[in-house]
Amino acid sequence: MRSKRPKPVHQLTEPEFETLFPDEDACCAYLVARRWPEGVRCPRCGNPAVYDLPSRKWHWQCTKCAPGGNTGYRFSHLAGTIFENTNKPLRQWFKVAHLMLVSKKGMSALQIMRYMGFGSYKTAWGMCHKIRTALMENVEKLGGIVEVDETYIGGKDKNRHKDKRSGKAGRGAGGKTAVVGAVKRKGNVVARVIENASRKTLEAFIKETVSSKVSLICTDDWRGYDGLDGKYPHGVIDHSKDMHVIGVVHTQTIEGFWSLIKRGVVGTFHKVSRKYLPLYVAEFQFRYNNRRNADIFGTAIKEC
Ligand SMILES: [Zn+2]
Repeated sequence: MRSKRPKPVHQLTEPEFETLFPDEDACCAYLVARRWPEGVRCPRCGNPAVYDLPSRKWHWQCTKCAPGGNTGYRFSHLAGTIFENTNKPLRQWFKVAHLMLVSKKGMSALQIMRYMGFGSYKTAWGMCHKIRTALMENVEKLGGIVEVDETYIGGKDKNRHKDKRSGKAGRGAGGKTAVVGAVKRKGNVVARVIENASRKTLEAFIKETVSSKVSLICTDDWRGYDGLDGKYPHGVIDHSKDMHVIGVVHTQTIEGFWSLIKRGVVGTFHKVSRKYLPLYVAEFQFRYNNRRNADIFGTAIKEC
């Protein structure tokens, strides 16, 4: 039923990664070029007048922060990034980020630990989480045809349909957590963990993520979406009547995104606690929104 999903673009292959990043210096130069495409600036005050510290590579001193004194502000390429204050070389960070971005359903900290040969699970877990935090992005408001839907992640499968939307989901209800998402057809997705699927919550999410000039919002017939009528052009699919597509009205794009996350959470991560689910959602959202970005790796590093 689902038609013509765009093929993901070519990403960095393993040999390309090795060629691009032969050593730590190559990674430092790459980070500097991504952070400061117009030249190094002071991370504290934004001043472009900084000078190299001759005694330390990849270190600079700002001419404005405490000028003249010998206690001027010195910083490195890592200052203010997620890589700061860690004892792992940048090259290992890059490798972990690369692995996370090329795997469609993500890679668990356990897989990362084994692949990277790390001695500790905590190390792998901490690195993955820092990278996920960096991947949290602000997406422009969605226009055109937008599909909105919610889903419930975690808990027991057999109960999923029964207590979906009971109002108790995510709190009790088999440990499920509610996630709402909006996707522009052939465009970006925005997904977020929510407390409940009430009308108030859903409408607030739509107001925040969907442009008021949207040409159509497609949802199913959950009453939480009833209030959209009159406010937006609103097309409704009644799944209970076994209807799934009426002309352009359907929610199959967002359903495809849900199945990707669920396969990731079940198959790769096995279980994700409610506390950390927003980070995993951000990771899947970032991969989805950069699926046609050949420079997805560079885009991610820039955000770190
Ligand atoms: Zn400064």
